[in-house]
Amino acid sequence: MGEFDLIERFFKRPAQRADVGIGDDCAVWTPRSGHQLAFSADMLVEGRHFLSTVNPKFLGHKSLAVNLSDLAACGATPQAFLLSLSLPRADEAWLSGFSEGLFQLSELHGCELIGGDTTQGPLNIAITVMGDTPQGQSILRRGAQAGDDLYVSGHLGDARLALEAFQGNVSLPQAVFDSARRRMECPTPRVALGQALRGIANAMADISDGLLGDLGHILKASQVGAEIDTSAVIPLMQTGTLWSCPHDLALTCVLSGGDDYELVFCASPLAASQVQLAAKSSGTPVTRIGRVTDSQRLVLLGVGGLPITTSFQSFDHFA
Ligand code: ADP
Ligand code: MG
Repeated sequence: MGEFDLIERFFKRPAQRADVGIGDDCAVWTPRSGHQLAFSADMLVEGRHFLSTVNPKFLGHKSLAVNLSDLAACGATPQAFLLSLSLPRADEAWLSGFSEGLFQLSELHGCELIGGDTTQGPLNIAITVMGDTPQGQSILRRGAQAGDDLYVSGHLGDARLALEAFQGNVSLPQAVFDSARRRMECPTPRVALGQALRGIANAMADISDGLLGDLGHILKASQVGAEIDTSAVIPLMQTGTLWSCPHDLALTCVLSGGDDYELVFCASPLAASQVQLAAKSSGTPVTRIGRVTDSQRLVLLGVGGLPITTSFQSFDHFA
């Protein structure tokens, strides 16, 4: 199977919203009037972002999911994406699983594959995604205000728990491992919640490198600080309902575990009921975990609301 057969067989679908899709030198797209375009790119490298043993269907899903999560974090509506693939060989079983997982998620979000590049080389998956928002309504990192409530969506820490188990640092009962592994390999981008928070959230980011690190980006961009109530975040581990994780490990997982792809956002206390409505309309649980302060520091509160000191770090590829 040659390069062009491979594209034709596994990636070419009829163009939907695109004026010109796969098959020409460029894809051509007409933006919706009154909207701004939002772009993001994310790359997945074998051995760095995923294990070689991962099911290709999950990998196809996750490659797009991590990109959709960036659109969600800006409140953008997914529209289209480009897929650049470096593959060691044209393995039909792998390509068919990968494209199945990829297209299942892309169809769910009406996000169309409009082009890309294919080359032979070490396994590397790079996606560039494009979405749109009504003019001026993107949610950025820089809008947090002292006094805002701090929220996260969904669950935190389970992907990190799975990684700890893969690395042999912890031994988990099978059902706990399966559940944590599922969260690591098949994350759910919070696209509907992101859009529902337009005009409500003052600042937002997605959690790819750990809550503390990604919240840290919001705080830095907004020149504010925050207090996080650790007793509100520890119960957010989904696997916590199946297994009582040792306290220190749970803290590490929820605060500095990566690969959650949840949203962390700030909103005025006056908007609290609108936040709950957005959570309900998007079918996504949302939990208040603290508040934004004018201190320029990120403080963790432990038992009885007393500050605790930690040495938690978020994931940094070059640290
Ligand atoms: P060029 O030589 O101009 O870079 P290619 O010959 O590499 O274009 O690609 C032919 C067409 O197939 C282009 O429209 C390109 O966008 C598309 N394409 C290539 N690889 C992929 C891929 N992995 N997924 C989707 N479309 C792809
Ligand atoms: Mg090319």
